[in-house]
Amino acid sequence: MSTLINPSTGAELDVSPASATLEEADAVIARAHDAFPAWRDVAPGERARLLRAFAALVDEHLEELAQLEVLNAGHTIGNARWEAGNVRDCLNYYSAAPERLFGRQIPVPGGTDVTFHEPLGVVGIIVPWNFPMPIAAWGFAPALAAGNTVVLKPAELTPLTAIRIGELAVEAGLPEGVLNVVPGKGSVVGERFVTHPLVRKVCFTGSTTVGKRIMAGCADQVKRVTLELGGKSANIVFADTDVAAAAASAPYAVFDNAGQDCCARSRILVQRSAYDEFVGRLETAVKALRVIDPADEQSEMGPMVSAGQRDSVQAYLDGASVAFTGSVPDGPGWWLPPTVVESSDTTEAVWREEVFGPVVAVMAFDDEDEAIALANDTEYGLSGSIFTSDVGRALRVARRVEAGNLSVNSHSAVRYWTPFGGYKQSGLGRELGPDAPNAFTEEKNVFIAH
Ligand code: NAP
Ligand code: MG
Repeated sequence: MSTLINPSTGAELDVSPASATLEEADAVIARAHDAFPAWRDVAPGERARLLRAFAALVDEHLEELAQLEVLNAGHTIGNARWEAGNVRDCLNYYSAAPERLFGRQIPVPGGTDVTFHEPLGVVGIIVPWNFPMPIAAWGFAPALAAGNTVVLKPAELTPLTAIRIGELAVEAGLPEGVLNVVPGKGSVVGERFVTHPLVRKVCFTGSTTVGKRIMAGCADQVKRVTLELGGKSANIVFADTDVAAAAASAPYAVFDNAGQDCCARSRILVQRSAYDEFVGRLETAVKALRVIDPADEQSEMGPMVSAGQRDSVQAYLDGASVAFTGSVPDGPGWWLPPTVVESSDTTEAVWREEVFGPVVAVMAFDDEDEAIALANDTEYGLSGSIFTSDVGRALRVARRVEAGNLSVNSHSAVRYWTPFGGYKQSGLGRELGPDAPNAFTEEKNVFIAH
């Protein structure tokens, strides 16, 4: 594997996990396939107990996992602790699923009809570098709970926490071969999940470009696929809201994780009568954002994940009308300041494309219809926020914005209790929430003649 770099300092890390070859990937898939029948047949209460033991061990190692993410991905320590805690919480939440994987009894003439939710077999999970821990758990926790075995490919840039979580699974008592972490290249290991006939479902999170390719590849075997792709979400601020509160919270909705978040509210739409006040207050908030060493407890934003990602974000700023920026530390590392662009042209790249960095574009609108039209003028549809004190308007707008996850008077992060996924080119299928285990099963119908 290429050398891992600490994004905050540019220094090489002294660990470099080996990249799996195609043959090694095949061997791991075979191991996961071999482990499947026994895991499927573990009694529901016992599978629940093992998932809770796994959760407890993640909790015991929370600080270790968090520190690893600060080092490998440049996440702030506060975020990294939340992320490791999210792995624990997902495991605990889905540990209730094995004992509640209910089918139905459906009234039919001439007999009894029942349905079963049966696991698929080996599930392949492909994880990006932006949230290595949570995104892995959103896949593996419900997949394991439903009785599948898992092969998990972390991003090449950020494999360390996934590798550690894989070790903790075994230590917690999950049988060997049930959760397998396979570090390696997308073009080798990731592609193999798509082409290998024993992998029965692929869960992919990452770019829309690669996601389309995975969907096309899965078609060849009619392989099940879930896609969580990009976003260009709108934060819609109506003049009837508490403008000060909306402006104070807006930076966190886009600059969290240095903007490397598929749910980033990277477009802010502000009603014209409140526009000047909002932008003025936004400037104060952005300038106050603590962009410092992510290992510092006070840090609110760290560096970009890689030099390449920083360059790609920087390219969007050439020629854009930057209104103001926040600060960055001097010295090495892949830093970019939080940057606010005022936009008036919806054809500009910075307004249309997923920048995936600490850049937000702000635009004025006149009325509710225009706000909705602007919010929906994108191929994406992942999330969004609506700030208004009019509850009728909040619901009207929430129903008309074409996105899977909206929050009113807040910028709620992904919640494991509720379904998460995209409209349009932001994805296919849903993760999380009470129904997630069903997405890792086939529904079987059995009719018994009387
Ligand atoms: P990416 O190429 O889509 O990578 C995501 C994951 O897919 C990684 O594990 C990657 O492996 C793997 N992969 C790459 N090519 C593959 C293939 N042909 N078959 C199977 N798996 C493959 O994303 P990226 O290049 O890291 O980031 C590029 C852009 O994607 C970002 O700037 C951002 O716009 C978007 N993005 C979105 C999200 C999101 O949460 N929606 C997350 C990350 C990135 P490697 O690590 O080996 O490349
Ligand atoms: Mg890529």
